[in-house]
Amino acid sequence: MMPGPMTATLIDGKAIAQQVRAEVRDEVEAWIAAGGDRPGLATVLVGDDAASAVYVAGKQRACVEVGIEGFAYDLPVDSTQAEVLARLAELNADPRVSGILLQLPTPPQIDGARLTTRIDPAKDVDGLTPVSAGLLSKGLPGLRPCTPTGVIELLHRHDVAIEGAEAVVVGRSDLVGRPVAALLLAENATVTVCHSRTRDLPAVCRRADVLIAAVGRPGMVTGDWIKPGATVIDVGITRTDAGLVGDVEFRSASEVAGLITPVPGGVGPMTIAILLRNTLEAARRQAGPAWTAAADRPAAVSVGLRQPGREPRRT
Ligand code: NDP
Repeated sequence: MMPGPMTATLIDGKAIAQQVRAEVRDEVEAWIAAGGDRPGLATVLVGDDAASAVYVAGKQRACVEVGIEGFAYDLPVDSTQAEVLARLAELNADPRVSGILLQLPTPPQIDGARLTTRIDPAKDVDGLTPVSAGLLSKGLPGLRPCTPTGVIELLHRHDVAIEGAEAVVVGRSDLVGRPVAALLLAENATVTVCHSRTRDLPAVCRRADVLIAAVGRPGMVTGDWIKPGATVIDVGITRTDAGLVGDVEFRSASEVAGLITPVPGGVGPMTIAILLRNTLEAARRQAGPAWTAAADRPAAVSVGLRQPGREPRRT
């Protein structure tokens, strides 16, 4: 059978990420002009993993581009847990550093997940500490994980109706699935979270007005899993001989979806853009309440705030 025509509109993550970066650059400039200290991002890379080094270099370059000061700490592959911990403690205490990013994965002798918990939540620009996860889960202000926030930003910039929509998230990792589900819930979607034990996954996905795939299985989601006109966000990235491949089979999906992200060039570029925005946000918060008037905050940080008078009754 010949493939049908692509009916979906493409979500151009690269262009939207560029917009976000330009906004951050303008905001950093305005912040400094108003007397704020230049925001700083410290990256901590342990070892010599080539892919990680490329990612960290990209983040450092992006900082320079928007006027954020970059501090790159490349620690030797045989560093001990105590040595990395000592570095994180220094960065927690360093007033030039607004945000800290520990690049994962770390070498086997280092417990990266445990170290992440030692980053000051005020500097947790990756949004991965238990404190940040708790704030998100309770709908309180805090720094949100970059990739999930990038997903929400793509939906906002395309005016996708989230409130009341059926949103299905495939994947429940701490990095993507769970936080993206929490952010969608905070925006009043009806959220279903799927995982490897979900029964009849295609049928659940077909309910989705907004479908987020964050699994890491190339081409798993095919066109017949998609409700006609749905918005499909493909977070998956798998390196294959044919290049980077997403979780969604683009050809069949784009014949059914209303809006769809490509891979590459969809969610991927958003992650660094949001990291930069989070670093500026962290700098503002560290400067004190006078600087963090609600109007100054990006929407993603203040969504899902509890309304006064809506506190749960205690018995
Ligand atoms: P994880 O491996 O941590 O999580 C994968 C999730 O998918 C798990 O919850 C797992 O379920 C679920 N899953 C696995 N197999 C199936 C299946 N057959 N059916 C349904 N669910 C399944 O991955 P991450 O969340 O870290 O990453 C997901 C993808 O997103 C990867 O491709 C990664 O490369 C990409 N990614 C992209 C980023 C970007 O764009 N910047 C950033 C981060 C990630 P269970 O919990 O039951 O095991």
